Amino acid sequence: MRSARQDLAIMAETVLEFKNLTLGFKVGSQIIPVLNSLTFDVRAGEVLGIVGESGSGKSTALFAAVNYLSENARISQGEILLHGQNTLALSRTELDKVRGRRIAMVFQDPTSALNPSMSVGAQIAEGVAHHTGLSGDALHELALDWLQRVHLDGGEATFAKFPHELSGGQRQRVMIALAMAMDPDVLLMDEPTTALDVMVQARILELVKELSRSANIAVILVTHDLAAAAVAADRILVLYAGEIMEIGRSEAVIQHPTNPYTMGLIAALPQLKIRANPRAIPGSISRSPDRFSACVFAERCEDVQDICKTTRPALIGTEGASLSRCHFTDHKSLTVQSEKSAEKVVLSSLSTEAPPILECKDLNVVYKRPFSLSAMFSRQERKGFHAVHDMSFDLYSGQTLAIVGESGSGKTTIAHTALGLIQPASGQFRFNGKDLASLSAAELRAYRQQVQIVFQHPASSLNPRKTILDLVSRPLRLAGMEIDAAHKTASNMLNEVGLDASYHTRFPSELSGGEMQRVAIARAFVTKPKVLILDEPTTSLDVSVQASVLQLLARLQSERNCAFLLISHDLSVVRQLADDIIVMRNGKICESGPIDQIYNAPQHSYTRDLLSAAPSI
Ligand code: SF4
Repeated sequence: MRSARQDLAIMAETVLEFKNLTLGFKVGSQIIPVLNSLTFDVRAGEVLGIVGESGSGKSTALFAAVNYLSENARISQGEILLHGQNTLALSRTELDKVRGRRIAMVFQDPTSALNPSMSVGAQIAEGVAHHTGLSGDALHELALDWLQRVHLDGGEATFAKFPHELSGGQRQRVMIALAMAMDPDVLLMDEPTTALDVMVQARILELVKELSRSANIAVILVTHDLAAAAVAADRILVLYAGEIMEIGRSEAVIQHPTNPYTMGLIAALPQLKIRANPRAIPGSISRSPDRFSACVFAERCEDVQDICKTTRPALIGTEGASLSRCHFTDHKSLTVQSEKSAEKVVLSSLSTEAPPILECKDLNVVYKRPFSLSAMFSRQERKGFHAVHDMSFDLYSGQTLAIVGESGSGKTTIAHTALGLIQPASGQFRFNGKDLASLSAAELRAYRQQVQIVFQHPASSLNPRKTILDLVSRPLRLAGMEIDAAHKTASNMLNEVGLDASYHTRFPSELSGGEMQRVAIARAFVTKPKVLILDEPTTSLDVSVQASVLQLLARLQSERNCAFLLISHDLSVVRQLADDIIVMRNGKICESGPIDQIYNAPQHSYTRDLLSAAPSI
């Protein structure tokens, strides 16, 4: 049933309208098509979520709205109407008046969008003054008011703060205040919560909904996270390879998807409430210049028929009340992908009779404060920052232990201490019963072969100048293996993660994000480690790629009986991989235990808050 809010949105006036927008990028003498006949609108007081994998064209569509495209962009047809005025036909001067003032934008990374040498209040005031000419007390009051409206309390004290004095979530609130203070007609948001913790993300999504309603502005929220779109958006548009595949009310698209691509995206999402195997969509997004003459999803669709390969389907109404681009309306055959997602993950065979492979005993980690002259002259005691308090846990072969919590909870500090990169103030890590602090230099090198790590951002963890084969061979070479033997072992490992010999001579920049993470996993597993530390291993990946990486990790663990220490803020990912969980806050354990027990009956209020803030569908 439609809510009153959705009825209101549907009746509200159209603010921004894309009409048949077809766009490509000129590369050499060729035009590479990106968007095909894109037609949709967004209305006052409404949040429209645009979802899709990387390469679907969602950010390009967003930037096209303010004609903020690279030099080689070519628009072959269509228009983008802001209250009936085509923004694509505006002169440079007219565009400058539209950007920021009538169409405001919020980007993924607030840190790089804010000026580090100016207070946040002054930045809001400067933006408003530039676009409206407002000055003096009225300008100051307006900036203060917007800080308050995005729930940044503290008045003048907050106004005077610099970006580095605020958390990531607070900086994103400043960006929203900065955009909203211009009183825009449209707010464009490009992955605004991707870099944020689960609780901060929930608050920002709630704020977006609240502001669209109270300020009656049209919001377009671009995200690769279908669950986040489901929380914040009134309607969802599913984009694939430059085509709209499905568009409709959020509940209709999420609860009764009618397009196989939407079904595939939902089946790939890890679930918060049950441990089910998220299922990757096979293959990768089509980039063929001829793809729009047929169904763009045909190469990956499990229900593909002959007609799909020769004829472009129209976007038509469905029983579920959304519009879907598919030749078939008998959707029984198309539910296969969702149903298959109920397969159980292969659980590691846990044996707690064996001694733990890694023990953390009464660990305390304290970071020293940097030297400061003022502290020296005031003779204050230079106290350190106590990042981890009295942490103890055991990790067994074949077990996945997850440590969850917000930024600053101490979870990454524990991972780095386990690797021997940080010296604890007290307490110890023991590997195979031996205290890390007692290891000789040679023993420490051997330990680092046995305990490997996979980082969040594969692009920055792989040397861009080395080929894939060299990258995966390197840990073996460091352990003294001959080059031919190292290459052979690395080649076998790459095969195991699904990368054949054609990848050997490529460089990281030639790989997709998912392929790079597979290389990082191959590099970590090539030394046959006993323990693998996974530091937010899927955070930067698309939902379908994430599903394939989770499957790969589960398979490798079950084959090799390796112990995983999983550091994550994504509670749905944790649910799929972990056997046990530790919930941390401010360096201390709030709660720990078997995953089902903690998720089904959390005892600590902070765990309950974390679970209720996690977006899920
Ligand atoms: S038109 Fe064919 S290939 Fe395209 S989504 Fe429908 S069934 Fe799949």
